[in-house]
Amino acid sequence: MSKFKTDISRRDFLKNAGTAGIAVGAASVFGTAVAGESKHLEDKSVYEKAFGDDVQQIYVKKGKSQGPKGPIGFEDRKIAKNEITKEYNCDIAVVGGGMSGLIAALKGAEDGAKVVLIEKMTEGRGAFECFGAVDSRTQREAGIKTDKAVLLGEMHRSANYRIGPDVVRTYVEKSGEASDFMEQMFEKAGTGVVIAPMPLRPKYPNTGAPVIDAECMFYNTPGLPKDVRFRSGHVGLYIIQDLTKIAKKHPNITAKYSTPAAQLVIDSSGRVTGVIAKEDGKYVKINAKKGVILATGGYDANPEMMKAYLRPEDYSSASWWNPCWGTTGDGHMMGLKVGAAMDPVPHAVMNFTFGSPESFHIPAVRTLRAMGLYAMVNDDGERFVREDTAFQFISNATNRQASFGKQSWLLFDDTMISKNKETFDKAIAAFKVLKEKGWLFEANSPSELEKLMKMPKGNLVNTVKKFNAFKKDGKDQDFNRDMEFAKAFDGNKIYALVCNSVILATVSGLIIDEHGRVLNTKGEVIKGLYAAGNASGDFFSGNYPRHIPGTSMGRAITFGYLSAKHAITGV
Ligand SMILES: Cc1cc2nc3c(=O)[nH]c(=O)nc-3n(C[C@H](O)[C@H](O)[C@H](O)COP(=O)(O)OP(=O)(O)OC[C@H]3O[C@@H](n4cnc5c(N)ncnc54)[C@H](O)[C@@H]3O)c2cc1C
Repeated sequence: MSKFKTDISRRDFLKNAGTAGIAVGAASVFGTAVAGESKHLEDKSVYEKAFGDDVQQIYVKKGKSQGPKGPIGFEDRKIAKNEITKEYNCDIAVVGGGMSGLIAALKGAEDGAKVVLIEKMTEGRGAFECFGAVDSRTQREAGIKTDKAVLLGEMHRSANYRIGPDVVRTYVEKSGEASDFMEQMFEKAGTGVVIAPMPLRPKYPNTGAPVIDAECMFYNTPGLPKDVRFRSGHVGLYIIQDLTKIAKKHPNITAKYSTPAAQLVIDSSGRVTGVIAKEDGKYVKINAKKGVILATGGYDANPEMMKAYLRPEDYSSASWWNPCWGTTGDGHMMGLKVGAAMDPVPHAVMNFTFGSPESFHIPAVRTLRAMGLYAMVNDDGERFVREDTAFQFISNATNRQASFGKQSWLLFDDTMISKNKETFDKAIAAFKVLKEKGWLFEANSPSELEKLMKMPKGNLVNTVKKFNAFKKDGKDQDFNRDMEFAKAFDGNKIYALVCNSVILATVSGLIIDEHGRVLNTKGEVIKGLYAAGNASGDFFSGNYPRHIPGTSMGRAITFGYLSAKHAITGV
């Protein structure tokens, strides 16, 4: 079992986090991301805060776009008995109405438990298209057999072996069962949601990582808008709305929205017996006989936690793409307050290489990226990463560029834009707006482009020459990119489009065991307390491995399901 010391970070956070819940109940916000700025401010306070003065200081460059700041529910003070205006009794209290919370509430309720689900915002967060699963009904029927050893091996390798074996193994063993439960819920409610295996691309560039067939999708659902597939995360909005409706109708579930949890209640033996929340601005206590499940998500809308727990350059160089500002790390803080262990720093972040949503939604640019035809260069006109590799690696490389004050660019020419005339023309029209914003440059040749972008003379010209030679020889001598899928630069126009790293979610959290029970720093179970989804940990380290399909939603579904299944035993 994992044992981690968290004293330093805990002290730091609980000291600063006493902020009372603010303006809770604001509607979720979608599309709040803005392109990051390439100009930075120096800020060395981040590591100082986290580690104290006796550690070598690392300069951190702070982006101008600080990301969202959501309403914190956690309160680090003693809430007196006479402040509690009402008490509710249930078997299981679920905190958070995103995927993990809804699955936990439904599983508990289906198994006969009386469940109270509280969600801080007016609706639970929903941002996803697909989810990871192994051996689910739909995959079995399609004849898909995931190689579990390869999947597990890749999960450990991607975490640099900094995670324990229990939680990931349980994911691989139980995610199919959890997915089947979710499917049954949709079927029972007759919502029309269809779960299907995610088709693998027939031919895919060799990204340097194995392609693992272990993902499901919702795209075949008849009720979804036609273009939802192209709007990253939008499928999740509809799926969460459907699951919310199912939960609200369930006779065993009382669902309360705009009701932030403020702190956990523990008895003299150290068992978690309930949660104090704010309902209509007044404190209420929810007594949970069998357990409290923290399903509060990550802390991507809490800048203080982002600064302290993330790798500085991951935090400071990124743009944000966060559809809901409820994820402020309340579950992390509530857990730490009762002695839970947490993943060590730096925490893992789910990142993505598209710092400009406006260009993401240009179909031709999306296809260009999907096909991986472009090259990537920095402000000096030099390549710095293999462009066909998994998103998180490109994000890391982009963040590294940003921490030296350099902007990253996608480089492509007109022959790489769609052959379809209508799509091509639409892209050219959209480029006009991006040009005005300084997000896109267009020229007739590499030498003209490097002049326009004030790059060092000759650099971009050389980069393009080299790239074309690699294509001709079939071997990328600099980054070992799979050149079969690349295209030479031989068009009449050449473009550079801004490209930042984007933060979608944080994915490190409280250490749990295979049942979702939260552990303390000695590796012992904190009785009555569970964590699921992005509030939980021991699953990722360093980065969210985007090349392993859908493990974040897969984990949320699996451990929402398993923690309720275990809590019902009341152990
Ligand atoms: C654009 C986008 C696309 C994505 N696509 C995918 C994908 O295809 N596949 C994938 O695996 N992952 C994807 N992700 C990541 C995915 O959204 C998250 O990992 C996932 O939502 C985590 O689920 P969760 O249940 O742990 O937490 P969340 O979905 O974050 O839900 C947590 C909920 O808890 C609530 N809450 C927080 N604090 C409190 C409190 N004190 N009291 C009560 N409620 C509280 C929050 O308001 C929130 O509703 C994507 C993310 C984004 C932004």
